Amino acid sequence: MPRKPPKISDGLRAKFKAVAHETGELVPTAAYANYVIIDPTFSDRDEILPGVPIYIGQTARIVPRIQEHMRHALAPAAASNALYRRMGQLIRIGALPIFRILEVHRTRADSIRAEAVWAQRLLRSGADLLNFLPEQSRILTASSVGRMQRVRLLTMSLPEAYAAGLVLQIACRRGCFSRTISPVDLIPWFGDRITLMGIRTKARQCPVCGGINRYAVADEADSPAPDGFENVPEFPGELPSAEFEFRLFDGQNRAPGYD
Ligand SMILES: [Zn+2]
Repeated sequence: MPRKPPKISDGLRAKFKAVAHETGELVPTAAYANYVIIDPTFSDRDEILPGVPIYIGQTARIVPRIQEHMRHALAPAAASNALYRRMGQLIRIGALPIFRILEVHRTRADSIRAEAVWAQRLLRSGADLLNFLPEQSRILTASSVGRMQRVRLLTMSLPEAYAAGLVLQIACRRGCFSRTISPVDLIPWFGDRITLMGIRTKARQCPVCGGINRYAVADEADSPAPDGFENVPEFPGELPSAEFEFRLFDGQNRAPGYD
């Protein structure tokens, strides 16, 4: 059943649009932006921001995203969401939440990485962020932030990962092989809708020993071998490369004993 759109006055709608466009002017076309939502009714301890940060986000479409946040804050469902409840209160008392651009990036991967860094920076300076992801709502060590960033990068599709200059490192944990693969070379096997996480599920076993593979995301420019796998061969010696790829990427989707 289509839900009734929340009643928003024309005046308020115009204000939301103005806020969104004013903020959007700071973001180049097709860029990804890290932004922060600010509650202007409290003052920033460090007196840098025009209020206290309450949420951090990243998007490739800043103008519609801001308007969406504002509309959600006035929707009936806002009651069950801490961020939208808070934003709704602010809008109703006439203190519109403020949106600030923190950084802009060419790729989603850079934007995801920077978002976690910004969240930790704000949390450490005392902000109480209403975000859900642990790296955005709790103070963590640098190594757990790094781990969570890498996990989030696995949610990118093959074309997104390719555009971001990322490569996938696949290695047998027992040392049979270690390969660095461009996401674009995986599209013929898996199509372009699958995420890096999906590849990990579909090709989890080493075709040689049957053990579980290790997956990591890296920058194309970085050293190709993952830590501890420097001396592992790219292909296991006894298998021709085409046969190896077939077993790794396709062989696992068939029932055992079917061929
Ligand atoms: Zn193996």
